[in-house]
Amino acid sequence: MNSRRDFVKMLGMAGGFALAPALVRSVRAEWGAPFSQSTLFTLGVASGDPRDDSVVLWTRLAPEPLDGGGMGQGAVDVTWKVATDPAMTNVVRIGVKSAQGRNGHAVAVNVEGLQSDTWYYYQFSCLGETSRIGRTRTFPSPGATPSEMRFALVSCQDFEAGYYAAYRDIAMQDLDFVVHVGDYIYEGGVDARVPDPQRRHNGSEIMSVDDYRNRYALYRLDPHLQAAHAAFPFIVTFDDHEVDNNYAGLTPEDQQTAQAFLQRRSNAYQVYAETMPVRPNVHEKKGSINLYRSVNFGDLAEMFVLDTRQYRTNQPCGDGLAFCDGIFDPAATMMGSTQEEWLFRNLRQSRSTWKVMAQQVMMMRWDLGALSQVIPNLPPHFFNVDAWDGYQVARDRVMAFLAAEQIQNAVVLTGDIHSAWAANLKADFTDPSSAIVGAEFVCTSITSTFGDTNAAVVPQTLPSNPHIRFFDGLHRGYSRCTVTPERWRTDFRAVARVPNPFFTVPSPDIAVFDRASFLLRAGQPGLSQIV
Ligand code: FE
Ligand code: CA
Repeated sequence: MNSRRDFVKMLGMAGGFALAPALVRSVRAEWGAPFSQSTLFTLGVASGDPRDDSVVLWTRLAPEPLDGGGMGQGAVDVTWKVATDPAMTNVVRIGVKSAQGRNGHAVAVNVEGLQSDTWYYYQFSCLGETSRIGRTRTFPSPGATPSEMRFALVSCQDFEAGYYAAYRDIAMQDLDFVVHVGDYIYEGGVDARVPDPQRRHNGSEIMSVDDYRNRYALYRLDPHLQAAHAAFPFIVTFDDHEVDNNYAGLTPEDQQTAQAFLQRRSNAYQVYAETMPVRPNVHEKKGSINLYRSVNFGDLAEMFVLDTRQYRTNQPCGDGLAFCDGIFDPAATMMGSTQEEWLFRNLRQSRSTWKVMAQQVMMMRWDLGALSQVIPNLPPHFFNVDAWDGYQVARDRVMAFLAAEQIQNAVVLTGDIHSAWAANLKADFTDPSSAIVGAEFVCTSITSTFGDTNAAVVPQTLPSNPHIRFFDGLHRGYSRCTVTPERWRTDFRAVARVPNPFFTVPSPDIAVFDRASFLLRAGQPGLSQIV
């Protein structure tokens, strides 16, 4: 959701930034030295997609990170090594991978043959320089029964909306991994009204491979984001802003031709696959990306990581807050039939205690119709149609599946909306006595703004959506989940508010605290608030 624009436009209220003309700047002098001794490894290191015997290690050679990378077109060998100790003395794996110009000299290595359920340390070297040391881990084997799994759920980290205090806090947590459900970058041009010139976008709206590389580099130069990547493996999926706001399949937000948008989406997917710690084969076919997958943490949890952007049909009735017949179109799809069948088949077969769906946009029903009582000319029911509420037959098919197959302990993890929510998912959301078929936790944004006006309006809609048990639009932050065979706890971590006209996070050093905590008990559907 581009919440500022959509919400405010719909409700006819004041506010929101306008996009200003491009301002290109170089921040290399400010960012280059302090976070790496190296001029090659300016973007740090990352790891991701752990399995019980393997994990993906990532880096990218970029002496000119904001200007195409600076490595030219030639290939360069990069040595990687994995050790069991943080001093990198007990090396258990070592290898060489060629960094290629066509990949922006990014390197992703799927290191195999590792011990299950084990922490490792890793480092790259090239041309006499070494990267920082990263830490990562493998997951417990299938059949193992781990006593606990801890992770952070994050999304929506608009660089222009401020500093990554949330990542500073994440990097200090005792976690097994981080789940990122999208809006890792924002594609828009520089907003000259952003109060802090250190936090403005580089260049205008991004279109080319170089544009996307330079934008990812701007974000990845942030020291707290780098620290979080160096501390934990990430399990990632994208939402819209990694390509274009609220795009659907091959339908762009604005007036771009189909041909131009196809090329742009292809550029965006290529650079996403280059930049994120995902398996090297996700981008085998140019123009598309194989992002949906499942990840097992022993028998404790199976996490289905979904892609609700690439295969969806276009949003009905625009892509803001709206109501029209298209919301109930039985042919509308979020996942596409292949992914949906894969999800249902694997949910049915899963032997894990917790069945987790990590995905982009809100799955719960959120009817804003109550606002028609207080704001003239609004319809009696309306919805955020970029979310599953715009695809209600497809959503209700998931709910009906969970009910009919008696899938136990289903948990949906969501981002996108820049505010924190907890809800019970219902077989029939319009019937308060209908069965609870799962729970949904929506993390707030790392930085992206929601706006205090919106935060004050939403509570008026909640009495008519009784399955929604928690909402907080006033804080940025993330969600921390602690999962055992008996219970699932979600803590909504909040960055303390520093009032300012743009609702930004003005410093990375702001305190982070527990805003609220919710509990699920295995085998007993329904959320309870514990703090
Ligand atoms: Fe967002
Ligand atoms: Ca989004």
